[in-house]
Amino acid sequence: MDPVAYDGVTVHRCTRCQGIWFDGATYRSLKKVPGADKIDTGSAATGRKNDAIKDVLCPVCRTVLEVKPDLYQPHIHYDVCPAGDGVYFDAGEFRDFVKEDLADFFKDLLAGRRNHY
Ligand SMILES: [Zn+2]
Repeated sequence: MDPVAYDGVTVHRCTRCQGIWFDGATYRSLKKVPGADKIDTGSAATGRKNDAIKDVLCPVCRTVLEVKPDLYQPHIHYDVCPAGDGVYFDAGEFRDFVKEDLADFFKDLLAGRRNHY
């Protein structure tokens, strides 16, 4: 795992599979930072392959991570530490996660505008 800093937040990227570990809820704060998807440099194809790997251990407490689908994008499964140490994204998943958030933002914007007519 290599430390990668972005906008004052440090995440850890796996040197082999390019998956990213976010401490605590930093993935939620980072996704609001423009350009934060740049930290996710791995290929989505590699990520999809690694998504099938079960029983990934938390790098902090060594408990098996729980696989949880994202509430808004159920096709994204991230691995969450049951003790709240952090969240692990396979390569490409964080880019996808951030992108949908922007799309939602514009959808909300359009819906808001429509109300003014
Ligand atoms: Zn843990």
